[in-house]
Order: sequence, then C-alpha cells, then structure tokens
Amino acid sequence: MAKKKVSHYVTRPGKHLGDPPITIPVAEDLLSVPGIPTREGDVAFFAREDPLENMAVAESASADWARRQRSSYSPELRAFYEEHEHHMEPIVEWVKTSGDLKPTGTPTGEDVTEAIRQKARELGYGEVGFTRNDRHYVYQSRKPVLKNDLPHAICLALEQDFDKTQSIPSMAGEETHFGTYFNQGPLTMELANFILALGYKVQVSGPTWHYGPMIPMFVQAGLGQLGANGQLLSPHFGSRARLQIIYTNANVTHDQPVDYGIHKFCQVCQVCVQRCPGRALMPEKVWYRGVEKNKLVFKRCRPVMARYLGCGICMKVCPVQKFGMQPVMEHYVETGEILGKGTDSLEGYTLHDKGYFGPGQLPSFDSDFFKMPRGRSEDWVLMEFRDKLMETNGDESADHEQMWQDLRKKIEASLEKRSSAVDAGMDRGV
Ligand code: SF4
Ligand code: SF4
Repeated sequence: MAKKKVSHYVTRPGKHLGDPPITIPVAEDLLSVPGIPTREGDVAFFAREDPLENMAVAESASADWARRQRSSYSPELRAFYEEHEHHMEPIVEWVKTSGDLKPTGTPTGEDVTEAIRQKARELGYGEVGFTRNDRHYVYQSRKPVLKNDLPHAICLALEQDFDKTQSIPSMAGEETHFGTYFNQGPLTMELANFILALGYKVQVSGPTWHYGPMIPMFVQAGLGQLGANGQLLSPHFGSRARLQIIYTNANVTHDQPVDYGIHKFCQVCQVCVQRCPGRALMPEKVWYRGVEKNKLVFKRCRPVMARYLGCGICMKVCPVQKFGMQPVMEHYVETGEILGKGTDSLEGYTLHDKGYFGPGQLPSFDSDFFKMPRGRSEDWVLMEFRDKLMETNGDESADHEQMWQDLRKKIEASLEKRSSAVDAGMDRGV
C-alpha cells in the first residue's frame, strides 16, 4: 500500500515531440501553492526601491577574480574558455540587437500560442511555456534597452547532456554546460524568425546575455518550481537545462503556474544542501524580495565555482535532475523516501585536488579559500587604493605617484572589461 495520499496529478507533455504525456503524482503532504509563495507587494517594493542588478555587473570584482582563477587552472582549460567566448560573441551580439528585428509577415489576428509551441518543440526545446513579461525581473542596467511594447514572455528550456552532467565537476560537465549555450544560438534565431514571419516582434534574452533572472517567469508559466539549489526544477530534466526567454507582442495565451510539490519536497530531500562543498545552500526557507525560498549564499558559492570547473554539484546531486520528476514523486508516494538519497551514484563527486566524497562526506577549506574581492571592480580598486594610502600615510619612502598610476590603470582595465560581451557563462556589458 502506498505510504502517502495523493493530492493531485499533474499531466505534462512528453520530453520530446511525439513522446506520450507523463503524469506526476503530488503527495498530500507536499501541497503548497501553484508556483512559489509570493507577496506581490514586496516584489513590487524591492523592484522599485532596490532594483535587481546582474551579478556580472554588481559583483564584477569577484567575476574578474574568478576569471583569473580559471585562467590559472590549466592552459587547456584557458583555451577552452577562450574558444567558447570566441564562438559565443556573434550569438550574443545577435541576442543584444534582436529587439530591432522587423516583422517579416502580417498578423492574421489568430492566437499563435500552439503554432509557436509546436515550432519550439520541433526545434528540440524540452519545455516551452507562455506568461506575462514581468518587468519586476529586469536588471537595472538593462531596463533602458528592454522594449516596453512586448507584454508576453515565451520561456524555453533546452536540456543538456545527461551522461556528461553526472560527472560534474569535470571537463565533460563544462563541455555540455557551454555546448548547450552554443546550441541555443541557432535554435532561438530560427524560432525568432518564425515569430517575425507571423508578423510579430521579438526580443531575446539568452543564451549568456539576459535582461534579468528568468526562473520566476518559468515558474509562472508552469514549467517547474524553484528548488533548494536555486534552480528551476522542471519535470523531465530538473535543473539540467539552459533557459532562454523570447519577449514578444504575439497574440498568445498564458499558461498557469503549477504545484508539483517541489516547494515542500526540497525541505524533505535536502540532498543539494547537504552535498554543497561550500556550505552555500541554506536548509531553511526565508522570505527574500517577496518570495519564500532557500537562499543561496553567493560568497560561499563563487570561490568553489571558480576553482572547481563551475562546480554545479547542486545540479548533479538533485534526484529530479537524475531520474526525472515522475519517478521521484512516484517513489515518494510509495515509500515516503527520496529516490537515490544516500547512494554514491547520486551523491558522490570528486574534486580534482581533494579526491572523492561519498554520502555524508564533505571537503574542508581554510578561511582564506573564501576570501575574494566583492562588489563592482571599480569600487573594489578604489577601496584597495584607500587602504594602501592609509597604510603608507607618513611613510616618506612610499611612491605615491606610482600608486596613482597603478590606480588609473586598474580602473581603466575594469571599465574596459565592462564592454566585453561574454565572460565564460556570465553576461557582461549593457
Ligand atoms: S555551485 Fe557548488 S558551491 Fe555553489 S551552491 Fe552549487 S554545490 Fe554549492
Ligand atoms: S537536491 Fe533535493 S532539495 Fe535540492 S533541489 Fe533537488 S529536490 Fe530540491
């Protein structure tokens, strides 16, 4: 007899076009709300008074630091990242100017939701959904460039390779991570051209260069829920996907958010929280900027990501990523347990300089490991300069002229980096 009563079943299209639909049981004790618990007034308040900013801009000092860490890793890895950036630059330039593309057809007035969904599925997108373009989730620096006559968001998730992801953190993991960004480029160009031919406008967010965080709109479009790892857990591949949004004025019908049970399931599961080498994931949920979530602690995550091939262990160890939501939820209903929890296959990982860590084992790092510059690089450079000035105050031998010259060089270098389009998986510039 099943251990849990089922509250409701969620039926979703199969992973690939033509696959049969799947049905996911949601246990009664996992019931919360469709989407994510939200206080709309708080979301609006924070968006207005403390607007979001892209981490590559707001935390550019640590982005530059992380880049130096990656570059010192090995010549092969440096060459790999450089090649990726070289390949992505024209795609990112197209993404940034996609809002200026003119429609090539004339709208008939018909609802084109299913035509766009069908085309996106033919192209290989595993999840496709439609919702409102929610301008609460636009970075401050990108507000001026996001058109204000595109009321809808088409949310698109492209799966990344299963086998390579299970080896994270690894070179194979980086290949599928960055390879999937690259694959998104031609697919989104074809989909954008399709929408333009229907007579409507587009503006594309991603790959790599985004107008804002995308997960809230994916959740609103019913494509999954937010996991404790800070990632979208969608039905077929959990967080093993790269996300994009096409904003448009096409005549479409919005999908609705869904309660897959994930909001509460994560509190029972906690695998990613317990396996994170940086102890960067919080076990308890907090209210943050108007939504209830497990908040990731950036300063404990980035030092790990920078040194261990983008880390991503929180993606790799998630049962929804590995098995899919249907088997995970069926197993929970039948047994009350988390599929794969406690096994080496799900929870194990290797750090190149520290060895293998199985269930219950975590690496340790000294406190210097987590030291890194914070904030914007130009501000960080000024703070460093101020500290140096204070240290050398009254010291006749200090070469203040040289210090000023160094400061100028560093500021110029940090401003120059702001205009580079691509930095590994991070988007730069405006
Ligand atoms: S990327 Fe690594 S360090 Fe960062 S939250 Fe995930 S598991 Fe933790
Ligand atoms: S590992 Fe468990 S707790 Fe973490 S996101 Fe996946 S389902 Fe949620």
